[in-house]
Amino acid sequence: MRITRIPQNKFEINYTNAIKWSNNKHRIYNDCKRKFLYRYLGSLIGPSEKEKVERLKGLKNLKKWQGEIIHRYIDISINIDSIDLALEKFKNEFHSTLNNSNENITECYYGIPLTNSQMEQIYNTSVISLKNFWFYYQQNIRKLKENIIFRDSYGIQTLRIREIDILYKPDLVVKKDDEIIIFDWKTQEIELDLNQFKLYSLAYLTMYHPKKVIIKSKIVTLYPTLKEDEISFSRQAIDEYIDFIYTSYLSIKNFLDQMRIFTQRDFENLFDEIKQRFEKTQNTSICSKCEFKELCFGK
Ligand code: SF4
Repeated sequence: MRITRIPQNKFEINYTNAIKWSNNKHRIYNDCKRKFLYRYLGSLIGPSEKEKVERLKGLKNLKKWQGEIIHRYIDISINIDSIDLALEKFKNEFHSTLNNSNENITECYYGIPLTNSQMEQIYNTSVISLKNFWFYYQQNIRKLKENIIFRDSYGIQTLRIREIDILYKPDLVVKKDDEIIIFDWKTQEIELDLNQFKLYSLAYLTMYHPKKVIIKSKIVTLYPTLKEDEISFSRQAIDEYIDFIYTSYLSIKNFLDQMRIFTQRDFENLFDEIKQRFEKTQNTSICSKCEFKELCFGK
């Protein structure tokens, strides 16, 4: 998002990027407006907090960090076609990040240091996940390598529906004849967010003629044991999901439109006034996992 200073403390907001929709943005918007401000609306944050917000944005909770590094090394192993080389590189990055865990991991930044045995356990479970992935890949995907049409490292993609830009990024997608298989690696057993898979299905239904392709999602759990589940959605379920996106998008857009009007008015300290409009959640369990809690409640 970009704002242009008009005179003094009045702003014109260009919020195109802020209203690009994603499942994650929808969740944060509904969880806590203040967190939404910190995460997505950097130009509305006052100079006294800006640097701290940027610093805290870089923190990741331990589970999320572990999930992301495993996903990255899955991609590296496919790219270099070797799990052994990937594991060697993984070991170096794992230790160099966790040796500076106070700067990278939310829990450590907020005063819960990692013990050596915890680090060892996280390392061992990550290696099991990567080895399980490689076993699954060799059995099911390697022979279809030429049919891979998307990998994690290709980055965030944009889909446009009803004039809404929607962001998504599956882990790996294979297209074989009229079948599109979307693979998702789970590094722990957690409850599935079906909207994640509806979004992927919607993206590939939009990309290809819906009557000419069959779309499936395969959810591959890599830890504690290797397990594969398959899901697919009816056209009706996808249409209902499009309505859900549209409702969510309008809610975010209307809120930002109101902010746009609001920022045209005179305030002695506009940034403080803006912050009050982005209310903090009252749900302490959301706050307990939030990387920005230092700004709301101190460290
Ligand atoms: S600590 Fe709580 S109130 Fe503050 S931004 Fe995070 S979720 Fe919102």
